[in-house]
Amino acid sequence: MNPIDRFLGIFSHDIGIDLGTANTLVYVRGKGVVIREPSAVARHKKTKEILAIGTSAKKMMGRAPVAIEVIRPLRNGVIADFDATAAMLSHYIKKVHETESTFPKIPRPRVVIGIPSGVTEVERRAVAEAAIDAGAREANLIEEPMAAAIGAGLLIEGPEGNFIVDIGGGTSEIAVISLGGIVLGRSVRIAGDEMDEAIINYVRLKYSLLLGQPTAEAVKIGVGGVEMGEDKDAQKETKLTVVRGRDLETGLPKSIKLTSEEIQEALSPILQEIISNIVDTIEETPPELTGDIMKKGITLAGGGSLIPGIDKAISEAAKMPVYIADDPLTCVVRGCGLCLEDNGLLKRIRVTKGL
Ligand code: ADP
Ligand code: MG
Repeated sequence: MNPIDRFLGIFSHDIGIDLGTANTLVYVRGKGVVIREPSAVARHKKTKEILAIGTSAKKMMGRAPVAIEVIRPLRNGVIADFDATAAMLSHYIKKVHETESTFPKIPRPRVVIGIPSGVTEVERRAVAEAAIDAGAREANLIEEPMAAAIGAGLLIEGPEGNFIVDIGGGTSEIAVISLGGIVLGRSVRIAGDEMDEAIINYVRLKYSLLLGQPTAEAVKIGVGGVEMGEDKDAQKETKLTVVRGRDLETGLPKSIKLTSEEIQEALSPILQEIISNIVDTIEETPPELTGDIMKKGITLAGGGSLIPGIDKAISEAAKMPVYIADDPLTCVVRGCGLCLEDNGLLKRIRVTKGL
């Protein structure tokens, strides 16, 4: 590394970035998680000029005039739009250096970026290069399930097997980790987004009502679940959610009431699909590691792990304990952060190096 970069590095913030399909989070070494925004970019359709990034871009989703497009750069767990991904990365690297400093800093940070494991080697290099272009003096890429496992506090460097499932927006990442590496992994494109879609389809077929994605997501986060709370009578009464959409017959706005049972019914096929991928992965796991995993159980991370009852449903199907990580939405970025705090760790786990 050249001495000028090394010198400027003293004045930079080392940062960890979770480039998720739904949310981008930024961790600053010594400070913790400082940014949490949706992974969204609004830009001019023709000129490709970037108009907004993150929360302000997401607010424009479904409301923007025809000349403006709001995209999710990592939609299906692959980099759907490279330029937008690079713009997001550079925006956050600069933002951290503007807002987190008492005096202006020249951004020459070390960065650790968590990306979905389905991203190809070529795209990985391109992301690392984009971080370098944004000013990073060193860019390290780490696979999301690995970062999630570190953030969830699993002992990934030991010889014992760990099983992590990160249910995000675009992908569910399932991985078996041992001796600091991913032994076996799957990245399936069935996660939070498909749950929203399932609610939209269910309501469209049953009530001829078209819901917007934000409404469907709110329904999912509010009362979606695979099972209602225990048999205590008080909890047995059905929760109702009022949703507003467009009546497909009249074309006019209409509200209906959805019961929690209906939402469970809508979500059930998606949850079953995730569960069957988990069970298949367990079956493919080398027997030595299966023994450890049976004892230690499965750890869940990502926003999808907050669907009530999902842990119980997985536990029943996989016949082993299931734990939800603390603060599951920040596991990946905290894992990236721990790699910054402990340089040795970064060297011991397999990462893609930037330039
Ligand atoms: P990614 O890593 O792909 O960016 P996240 O781990 O940030 O994804 O999770 C985002 C997904 O989790 C979204 O689909 C969101 O709707 C969902 N989600 C967030 N909170 C909850 C909740 N409380 N219950 C159910 N789903 C949730
Ligand atoms: Mg994630």
